[in-house]
Amino acid sequence: MRSGLKPVHVIGGGLAGAEAAWQIARAGVPVVLHEMRPQRRTEAHATDRLAELVCSNSFRSDDRETNAVGLLHAELRRCGSLILRAADAHRVPAGSALAVDREGFAQSVTDALVRDPLVEIVREEIAGLPPAEWDNVIVATGPLTSAALAEAVRTLTGEDALAFFDAIAPIVYRETIDFQKAWFQSRYDKAGPGGGDGADYVNCPLDRAQYEAFVAALLAGDKTEFKEWEASTPYFEGCLPIEVMAGRGVDTLRFGPMKPVGLTDPRTGHRPHAVVQLRQDNALGTLFNIVGFQTKLKHAEQKRIFRSIPGLEGAEFARLGGVHRNTFLNSPRLLDASLRLKAEPRLRFAGQITGVEGYVESAAMGLLCGRFAAADRLGSAASAPPPTTAFGALLAHVTGGADAKSFQPMNCNFGLFPPLVEAVPTKKKLRGDERRRQMSARALADLDAWLGVRDAAAD
Ligand SMILES: Cc1cc2nc3c(=O)[nH]c(=O)nc-3n(C[C@H](O)[C@H](O)[C@H](O)COP(=O)(O)OP(=O)(O)OC[C@H]3O[C@@H](n4cnc5c(N)ncnc54)[C@H](O)[C@@H]3O)c2cc1C
Repeated sequence: MRSGLKPVHVIGGGLAGAEAAWQIARAGVPVVLHEMRPQRRTEAHATDRLAELVCSNSFRSDDRETNAVGLLHAELRRCGSLILRAADAHRVPAGSALAVDREGFAQSVTDALVRDPLVEIVREEIAGLPPAEWDNVIVATGPLTSAALAEAVRTLTGEDALAFFDAIAPIVYRETIDFQKAWFQSRYDKAGPGGGDGADYVNCPLDRAQYEAFVAALLAGDKTEFKEWEASTPYFEGCLPIEVMAGRGVDTLRFGPMKPVGLTDPRTGHRPHAVVQLRQDNALGTLFNIVGFQTKLKHAEQKRIFRSIPGLEGAEFARLGGVHRNTFLNSPRLLDASLRLKAEPRLRFAGQITGVEGYVESAAMGLLCGRFAAADRLGSAASAPPPTTAFGALLAHVTGGADAKSFQPMNCNFGLFPPLVEAVPTKKKLRGDERRRQMSARALADLDAWLGVRDAAAD
């Protein structure tokens, strides 16, 4: 143990904060973990345990070969994650998913941190920016960050840089769009101030009958309701679900996100009755989001209804849409590559507040952030994981790969990974599970190399 080091302060003892504290202590650096529960509760947490799971008890797929979240599990295990260790120890039967006994899981995370001599746990709300003498801080306060801290971060980062609701439009893998029906064109072929070639959007045309059937399906579709405390949060007029817009009149969408003006279907030479537009979502160009299609439709309904759009019949979704109460930063704009706030580098951010979505992704950002903060304290360089790993792909997305203008929370999926480079180029493109297997194998090999390099550097 290295004594005499100033502690790193971690605010929030959820999935990300607990993992970050654990990683910092593993590096021999003292850490103070500030958790406001039980003094102050959130709308979703029910206990005073660290790493409480607020909803489902599932960490999703544990298939590391063909599922990007399963791969992230494997990477977390290889990096000595406390969250994955506790999840494995409290696993309950759930087929190919990793599901846990939630109480046993959270209790074992809590016990491990309470017992760790390098970790001090303080039960208090940090109700503003941390004191100036805290020179190395991780903010991991999650989707339900307390109002006082959220307001302080909003003042520091700017009005539009911290959101209180996500408005997630479904994201489609580009390779699953049917370009026999869809075409690339920007409205009025305008290049726009940010560059572009006048053909930046993918457009899917609907005739009158298709449009009216689509609006009817949106209205009839099975939806998830807003929770009472979400509905009373005064921010969601700005991100209305598409079915709510559809309910305001049959033509509302045709004058809103589905307006056809300035667009010509090259197959007919005419302007369609309505158009669904998709916009590039990542720098790699592998993912496209359906513009303005944030929704509270249930996931199965989204797949059924959105696949009725011409050109999207075979669409595979990297993520489905949603609207939730969520506190998150515009990370591509605000954070540097080691998750530091550019405007105030003593502050790092981890977990859902960085714009990742889900328990596993939040824990992964906590792990990386903890390692970066510990490296800073020890005066060593923090190296980022390669972008070919699940860790690196997610980190690169939130810190710059995503488009800052339309940034919304993202889960881990293979669309975030750089394409495979074949050793011997072949005409036949690798698809489906075979492509995913190769991406996973590449990720784990690159992660091992990174860990080897890191460990050697730390010796
Ligand atoms: C209602 C709801 C349901 C969800 N369901 C799922 C699901 O089923 N599956 C899934 O994968 N993800 C789900 N999520 C997303 C989930 O919250 C995150 O994936 C995960 O918990 C985020 O981890 P985190 O560490 O960033 O935040 P959290 O786990 O929420 O941890 C943040 C911690 O910070 C504390 N805190 C907040 N403000 C302060 C402060 N000012 N001072 C001190 N402490 C503070 C909180 O008490 C909390 O313990 C859900 C989110 C919500 C809001």
